[in-house]
Amino acid sequence: MDSIYSSTDDSSIPLTERFSSKRTRKRKSAKLVSSKSAAQEGPPVGEVSDFVDITPTTTARPRKVAAPGKIPDDDTRDSNVAVTKPAPTPTSSTRTITTPTAPTASAPGPSGPPPNTTSSPKPPPIHIQEVGDFEGFCRALDALVGRDGFFCKARMHEIMITPSTPDAYRQIIKYLTEGKYAFHTYQIKTDRAYRVVFRSLHHRTPILEITRDVEEQGHKVRGVTNALHPRSKMPLPLFFVDLEPAPNNSEVFNIHRIFYTEVRVEEPHKRSDIVQCTRCQQFRHTKSYCNRPPRCVRCAGEHDSSTCSKSRETPATCALCGNNHPANYRWCQVYKALQKATTNF
Ligand SMILES: [Zn+2]
Ligand SMILES: [Zn+2]
Ligand SMILES: [Zn+2]
Repeated sequence: MDSIYSSTDDSSIPLTERFSSKRTRKRKSAKLVSSKSAAQEGPPVGEVSDFVDITPTTTARPRKVAAPGKIPDDDTRDSNVAVTKPAPTPTSSTRTITTPTAPTASAPGPSGPPPNTTSSPKPPPIHIQEVGDFEGFCRALDALVGRDGFFCKARMHEIMITPSTPDAYRQIIKYLTEGKYAFHTYQIKTDRAYRVVFRSLHHRTPILEITRDVEEQGHKVRGVTNALHPRSKMPLPLFFVDLEPAPNNSEVFNIHRIFYTEVRVEEPHKRSDIVQCTRCQQFRHTKSYCNRPPRCVRCAGEHDSSTCSKSRETPATCALCGNNHPANYRWCQVYKALQKATTNF
């Protein structure tokens, strides 16, 4: 049986690349889902492995978004795993899209490319809903990053910008944010944590002890989370350990003892579903990298789902298809169509 792994703080990682592992290790495991999604918003939808476009049935118009602010690193509702600690609920009015800093040595994921200390990471694409004056927009970007600093691809309901360098990416994101454009993007490769799974570890093992033991082996730990069973919400003897990217990341598999316990270190399973943004309800990106107008998962209103005032008696309205179900309903026609398109290519 295939498993789905994730946790709070990796939801900001583009799911398409989060579990790109080809190395497989046999194991039994439970299917893990987000407690919040399962309990309050129905089952979440997951991810696929490329940046295929989808056509929203509700075309959003350009609209103002608030000034940039701090976004919490974790994003529970984008996650597919229940975790022991609830994530803080960010306000929809404060957005900051992480932009790359100076190029650093890239560290591969469990199945990522070999370490490369010379080339800078390729910036992720930026999807913009509407730019208005396309010619003026392009000339503005040209003035900002130069003719070779970006290229566009027009799609039915959006324009995709691919910056040439991390610096161009950073400048374009700043320009779009200041210009209050509605867009989404993805996490930069070098920001991604190197995730492994520690098995056979009692769920009450102190996080601090796990962190200390791993760091004593020469790793820098970004986060440790205990997984919960998707239905029973019982804690599992299984922890996700996220390491800061480093050339020695793969040496984490040599760890066998953590806090009096003989552990197995494994790669996370690849997810097979399609990720859905909990801010705008669209697919294939997460809210940490979304600057689109918020859409409520329950009533389809233009507000953050956490501020919804819809009563339980009022039927839900899907922000994707308009029918009477939450936007994260797995049988939504938009999701089903996307799922079909993904499996039939
Ligand atoms: Zn979004
Ligand atoms: Zn609402
Ligand atoms: Zn729907």
